[in-house]
Amino acid sequence: MSELNEREVYLDNSATTPCFPEVVELMNRIFLQEYGNPSSLHHKGVEAEKRIREAKETFAQILKCRTDNIYFTSCGTESDNIALIGGALANERQGKHLITTQIEHAAVSESMRYLESQGFEVTYLPVDRYGRVDPESVRDAVRDDTILVSVMHMNNEIGALEPIEEIGRIIKEKNPKTLFHVDAVQSFGKAVIHPQKMHIDFLAASGHKFHSPKGVGLLYVGDGVKVKNILFGGGQQRGLRSGTENVPGIAGMALAAKMIYSHLDENLDRLYAMKQSFIDRVTKIEGVHVNGPTGRESAPHVISLSIEGVRAEVLLHALEEKKIYVSAGSACSSNRPHVSTTLVATGTPREFLDSTIRISTSELTKEEDLEYAADALEEIVPFLRRYTRR
Ligand code: PLP
Repeated sequence: MSELNEREVYLDNSATTPCFPEVVELMNRIFLQEYGNPSSLHHKGVEAEKRIREAKETFAQILKCRTDNIYFTSCGTESDNIALIGGALANERQGKHLITTQIEHAAVSESMRYLESQGFEVTYLPVDRYGRVDPESVRDAVRDDTILVSVMHMNNEIGALEPIEEIGRIIKEKNPKTLFHVDAVQSFGKAVIHPQKMHIDFLAASGHKFHSPKGVGLLYVGDGVKVKNILFGGGQQRGLRSGTENVPGIAGMALAAKMIYSHLDENLDRLYAMKQSFIDRVTKIEGVHVNGPTGRESAPHVISLSIEGVRAEVLLHALEEKKIYVSAGSACSSNRPHVSTTLVATGTPREFLDSTIRISTSELTKEEDLEYAADALEEIVPFLRRYTRR
C-alpha cells in the first residue's frame, strides 16, 4: 500500500472534533486523581470544585462576562433546551410568542415544536439563498407579546453566518423585554463572541465541536434573565442544572477553549484561506456547486457542495474508501435519513437535495488534507457521474 492510501483525512469536524492531546492528558489526571464530587465538603470535593471555578473563569474571560453567567450542561442540545423551554416557561406571563429561523438545528427547532404543543406560537423566519436572516424581518416579527427570539450564529450545514449583533440590537429596540437566544454550537472557537455587546441573553456551546470531549456543554445566561429549570434534583448550579457536574469534561472543555482563543485570529486566517483555495479548485470540476456564503461572510470551517448527477451517499462512501471522511448534507442530528431543512429554506434545487456533501475543517486540518480531498473529488466525481447517468 502506498503512503497516500494509508493516510486518513477527517473532514467532518462540524459533526465532532478530535480532542486536543493536552485536553485528554488533563482529563486523565482528573479522572484518576481529582475524582471528587464538587459538592463534597472534604478536600477531594474542594479540589473538584476548584476545577469548575477555574473553568468558569476561563469562559467568563472569553465571553467577557461574570462567572455567574456560566452554566455547564451535557451538550449543546441540553443548553438549547434549557434556554428555550426554561426561558419560555419562566416568561410566559408576559406573552406566548416566540421567533426563530427556518434553518436552526433540531436542538432548537424541536424545542420550538414542543413549545407549540404547549400553547406557544412560533414564527419561523425565512432566509435568503445564503442562509442569511434579514434583520429587518426580525424587526417586523417582534411583537409586544414576543418573549424570545432564537437565531443561530453559524449554520452547521452551509456555514451561513448570521448578523447576530444587528439582530440583537433590533430585537431590543423593538421590545426590550424580548430575550435573545443564540445557538453558538458551531461558532464557539471560530469567532469572537461577546454576548453583552451582541445583546444576547442565552448562548449555547458544545465541547465536542472544539476539541474537547462529547458529553459536556456550556450555557451563558445574562444578568437578571428569568429561566426555569427543566431538570429536578440536587440543586447544583444554583438550581438551574441539577446533576453532578462532569468535572473532567468541564476542565477539558475550558482548556480547549483557552488554547483556541489564544491564537484565534491566526487560526481564522488559515481556515478562511484553506476554504477558499479548496473552493477555487473543486468548483472547476464540472457540475460542482457551492452552497451558502464564502469568504469572511461565512463560517470558516464549513463547505457545502452540491454535485450534479451524483448521490451524496455514494460519493461519501467512495471518499471513505480513500479514508476521507465527510458527511452527506448534515449528518449531525441523527443517522436517520432526512431532507435538509436548511437546503430547502435556501432554495436549493430539488435535484441537489440528495447530492450535497458537507466538508468541515478544524484547526487540526492541514492544507495537504484539503488538497488530497480535492484530488479525490477530481478523480471520483466524473467516474461516479458516468455510472449514474447510464
Ligand atoms: N446546534 C448546532 C448548530 C449543532 O451543529 C449541533 C450539533 O451538531 C447542536 C446544536 C447539538 O449539539 P450537541 O451535539 O452537543 O448536542
